[in-house]
Amino acid sequence: MILTVTMNPSVDIGYRLETFLLDDVNRVTDVSKTAGGKGLNVARVIHDLGLEVGATGIIGGTLGNFITEKLAEQHLREYFFKINKESRNCIAILHEGKQTEILEKGPHISEEETAAFLEYFQQLLETENISVLTISGSLPKGMTADVYKRLISLANQKDIPVVLDTSGSVLIEVLEDSSLKIAAIKPNYDELSAIENKELSTNPSEWQEILETPRYNQIDWVITSLGAAGAFAKHKHDFYQVSIPSIEVVNPVGSGDATVAGIAVALNQALAPEELLRTAMTTGMLNTMEMTTGTVNKDLFHEYFNQVTIKKL
Ligand code: ADP
Repeated sequence: MILTVTMNPSVDIGYRLETFLLDDVNRVTDVSKTAGGKGLNVARVIHDLGLEVGATGIIGGTLGNFITEKLAEQHLREYFFKINKESRNCIAILHEGKQTEILEKGPHISEEETAAFLEYFQQLLETENISVLTISGSLPKGMTADVYKRLISLANQKDIPVVLDTSGSVLIEVLEDSSLKIAAIKPNYDELSAIENKELSTNPSEWQEILETPRYNQIDWVITSLGAAGAFAKHKHDFYQVSIPSIEVVNPVGSGDATVAGIAVALNQALAPEELLRTAMTTGMLNTMEMTTGTVNKDLFHEYFNQVTIKKL
């Protein structure tokens, strides 16, 4: 089973309004409430592709119960660690072609809760047969990058490949620890620019130079996704430029998560490097073609898989 980690999941509330009135009452009839979080998108895509998947992280309260109910409705196995605090709501108001978001930070996780979760996670790796671990998103308040480092180290001890999709200082801190083995990271253009602290060009030789720096040494795969432009990837000492066909995008939100799902599936099946890239690009593309974030239509997989072009540099 592939296990996905979402440390700070949410109930995602979508309100659709003709007009959004500030400093006034807005009554809304078009409401959606779903289980949200990057790792949950990853889990849904893996499930859509027909593979066994479980989701873990921390949840609590009535919103936590709502999240587990939604996951059960979608036949997703959940292994969330339950705490006595309320999970968060994240609100997106869709109005006049715009999206206004109100995002709660979520519960503050104490040192005791962190220790208990890590203990629980270690047990999970002992009792369940985990083939690949994915870690997505930011950490809740109270937790530091040490938590991700510990998850990776526990997975390393059991030879479970880890796909890490986080950003900013947490990603930098994890990459600084050269004792950790990471199978893949998937920064997008903005995230890689932020790590490197400079505006990058799309010139492959510049990317190659950056990804050859020691920071990326212990990572097998660095897949820098570039939206409609595909990706630039490094696998050990090989570099690839990946192009994708032009497609009709319905909703691009969660494409990066779908790409992570593709990477995890390919690692699970021990696919060859070029096949891994094709799989990751295909799941990203298929997600953009669906209205619901973090879903793919498996029936379209081969059609798009065959249209991905890979150039070895
Ligand atoms: P993120 O969601 O993390 O910002 P990207 O926007 O780079 O990630 O998208 C991840 C992948 O999803 C891309 O590499 C590509 O395969 C697919 N994708 C995203 N946007 C588009 C698009 N407009 N057209 C075609 N494919 C897309």
